[in-house]
Amino acid sequence: MSDARTFRAPGRVNLIGEHTDYNLGFVLPIALNLDTRIRTSPSLDSFLHVHSAAHGETCSVPVAGIDSLTPQGHWSDYIFGVAFQLRALGFDIPALNLHVESTVPEGAGLSSSAALEVASALALLQGRQLDRLELARLCQRAESYFVGMPCGIMDQYVSVFGREHAATKIDCRSLESEAVPLPDGLAIIAVNSMVKHSLGQSAYRERVAECAEAAKALGVASLREATLERLAGVPMSRAARLRARHVISENLRVEHFVEAARAGDVSRMGQLFLNSHDSMRYDYEISCAEIDFLVEAAARLPGCHGARMTGGGFGGCTVNLVAEQSVPAFAEAIKDAYMAYSGRCPAVIPCVPAPGACEIRQNT
Ligand code: ADP
Ligand code: MG
Repeated sequence: MSDARTFRAPGRVNLIGEHTDYNLGFVLPIALNLDTRIRTSPSLDSFLHVHSAAHGETCSVPVAGIDSLTPQGHWSDYIFGVAFQLRALGFDIPALNLHVESTVPEGAGLSSSAALEVASALALLQGRQLDRLELARLCQRAESYFVGMPCGIMDQYVSVFGREHAATKIDCRSLESEAVPLPDGLAIIAVNSMVKHSLGQSAYRERVAECAEAAKALGVASLREATLERLAGVPMSRAARLRARHVISENLRVEHFVEAARAGDVSRMGQLFLNSHDSMRYDYEISCAEIDFLVEAAARLPGCHGARMTGGGFGGCTVNLVAEQSVPAFAEAIKDAYMAYSGRCPAVIPCVPAPGACEIRQNT
């Protein structure tokens, strides 16, 4: 009988609602069939040892020293940040070995970071109870305050609350969510551009600040409360106006996309994808040439209803709505086109909605 336990948490693909979460708006992600798994066993000293198979590296800290940890700009920050936040809620951190393995590509916009945080929280809790919403919020705090990325709640929320057979519409103000089943015969395909421009992190912070500036000029607590009519009449910087226009229109697109999905109107869903992409490209200014190429090439392919960038921006993945019977031809054609354009082979990733984080129980 071994003391080993295994915990998993999924990555996600966001269908629509980009950069709306930290503006307390709407998002529509699905938790993915790709996940991060952490195998735990008691450590024989008083240390927490964390090993990432992907990085081939182990980091160790004494459990007694977790309260005084500071971020090191290293992958282990995501785990130690969660440990730090658990301590702040009064949980003891047991001396453990954590072995991390993941099928979520890192830095591709499919949220390997939240998958790592949520799996780490379950691993460190070792079955101790924590309200699921508190779990998501704790992981968001780990990323915002320890890692130093001022992210919204979407990634951690859907990694905790994801469900099979449906997307999850999240109201990032009330923190309530609902299942949004997708039309039959429609496949969700992520295409990884295999590029990540370094601009990403600083631009993210800049966008957060510009949205705050716009909300302040509009006299609202968050851009969730703003309207396009009001935006037209209030003076502010050009950047703040463009960012606000993206966020306000993107929130409306999430609502329209959900209506279209419920009505089985795939061509409207596809058009909303393309509109969302244009808004990210021209108003939020977070796209890049490789991603624009993938979106435009996909939109011309038979059976593809629409495409857009997904995730924080400046590279990573596009998400595509493709008729199921067209998927093999779509995959081949988008690979050929992108190879010819960039010399890189894109990963084509079928996205199947998967349940939220849990312990994996062995039968033996
Ligand atoms: P995304 O969440 O879109 O994948 P982020 O930049 O937010 O991109 O998070 C990626 C970072 O998360 C990696 O650079 C690494 O520090 C950390 N990370 C994610 N998965 C793992 C893993 N399996 N092992 C170690 N670090 C990981
Ligand atoms: Mg991330």
